[in-house]
This record gives sequence, structure tokens and C-alpha cells, in this order.
Amino acid sequence: MKYVLVSGGVISGIGKGVIASSTGLLLKTLGLKVTSIKIDPYMNVDAGTMAPTEHGECFVLNDGGEVDLDLGNYERYLNITLTRENNITTGKIYQHVIERERRGDYLGKTVQVVPHITDAIQEWIERVALVPVDETNETPDVCIIELGGTVGDIESAPFIEALRQLRRRAGKSNFMQIHVSLVPVISGEQKTKPTQAAIRDVRSAGLSPDLIACRCQQPLNPATIKKIALFCDVNNEQVVAVHDVNSTYHVPLLLHDQDLVSLLKTTLALDKIQIPAAYV
Ligand code: ADP
Repeated sequence: MKYVLVSGGVISGIGKGVIASSTGLLLKTLGLKVTSIKIDPYMNVDAGTMAPTEHGECFVLNDGGEVDLDLGNYERYLNITLTRENNITTGKIYQHVIERERRGDYLGKTVQVVPHITDAIQEWIERVALVPVDETNETPDVCIIELGGTVGDIESAPFIEALRQLRRRAGKSNFMQIHVSLVPVISGEQKTKPTQAAIRDVRSAGLSPDLIACRCQQPLNPATIKKIALFCDVNNEQVVAVHDVNSTYHVPLLLHDQDLVSLLKTTLALDKIQIPAAYV
């Protein structure tokens, strides 16, 4: 199983969901089977109890699961059918671990965030990633994991630690991280400092993004891309710009035009995966 983590910095509502779905769609065009998991680091067990005015409409899945709207994006972009298990919340994970504690699964142990919550998160991801999500009933090749909120929030800390461990567990070429950041325009100038700070934050948490996706109002200047690459210590190809577009269905094309497919292929060693003849 290959994992693509989509995380975000600077502000929430930055477009992680759309970038996660679009990346999944590009992987699908390569003939891979793609599934997805959305992590919401709030204490609600599901999105059904939250006011739409505060959180946006909740999306109802085929199994009745009331989940974040991003799961609707995944289903539409990837033509898949997800279940409530594809949406992990802090509430769900704690409920699961507390139920196990009451059953006596950890008898004699002090139940802690690390390792019990972080292990439960990894086991949940590894289990759900293998569940078939389309009519072929075949096991997916790639799982897109979107981490809601922004890296550095207290709420997301256990998930970041779990994902850091999952990266080690999955091994090289099986885990890739896309960090979505914001490039604001102040007095006509594209500012890179928020992105530099966001990358510092994510690295201090032990993760290391393979791609920096910059959200901006206008297309990024080549000089801005070079500056971000230089100060964040990545190659120019590891910085992509996703500017505001009229329809979010243009985002996969934007990423394709910036050759995200090549980066996905090399980072995840996709040439080693058996691809159906129709796509070769
Ligand atoms: P997040 O997952 O970070 O909370 P979303 O992917 O849900 O963010 O996007 C937040 C909002 O921004 C949505 O209404 C989405 O349609 C819009 N959006 C995302 N990317 C773009 C883009 N490139 N151009 C225009 N609107 C966008």
C-alpha cells in the first residue's frame, strides 16, 4: 500500500480537500486504484452534530455515515464509494480506545495518547486503506490521507505523530507528503514567509513534505517558486502553484500541467506497480 498524505499550514480551508482529490484523480489516470481517508481532529464522533453554518453541510455516505464534505469530493473526483470508516475523527479514535480499555484489552497498562491513541490511528488507517471502494472489489493501490486543520494545532498533534510513525512503517517509496500552504499577495508582492514558517513547523513535527502546494490568488511568478524552493530546501519541481480558479475541477489540470505525475511516479516508485494493460 502506498500513502499520500495531504496536510496544510498557515490557515484552514486552504484547499487541501481539492488538492487531495485532484492528486487521487491523477493517480487514477495512471491506472491505479485509489481510496481515501479524511482525518478531522475534532472531538465530535461525526460531522452530523455540527451546525452547517459553522462547518458547512455534512455529507451523507451510502452507509448512512454523516461525514465531512471532503468525502463527497473524493467520491465525485474518484468515482468511488466510501464508508463512515473513511472519516477518522478524534472523537471516533478516543471512543474506540476507551471501549477497548473498558473491555480490558490493555489490562495492566496505563492507557496513553502515545502509544495507544497513535497506534489506534495507524491500525485504523492500515485497515481501512485495504477496503475495496469500487465495483471491481479489488484492493486499492494508493490511499490518500487528508489531515484536516493546520499542522501545529494542539488538536492534530496525535495524528501528526501517528503519521510520522506510519511513514517509517510504510517505508521509502511508499509514503509521500504534500503540504498545502498559502502565498498571500501584499501590495502586489507574493509573500513567501508564511510558507517558510509552515514548512519549518511541519519539519519540527518530524515530517518532511515531498511537495509544497502553494495556494494563491494569481499564478505564482517563477521567481516566487524558486525562492520557496531555495528557502524551504527543496527542488523547484517540488513546488507547485494552485491559484484560484472558477471551477475546482480545473485543479487536476493545473497539477498535471506542472508535471505532478512525474513527481508522483518517482517519489512513490510507481513503475514497480503492475498497471492494467489498458493504461500502459
Ligand atoms: P480544506 O480541505 O483545506 O478545508 P477545501 O478543499 O475544502 O479546503 O477548500 C475550501 C474552499 O476553497 C472550498 O469552497 C473550495 O471549493 C475552495 N477552493 C479550493 N481550492 C480552490 C481553487 N484552486 N480555486 C478556487 N476555489 C478553491
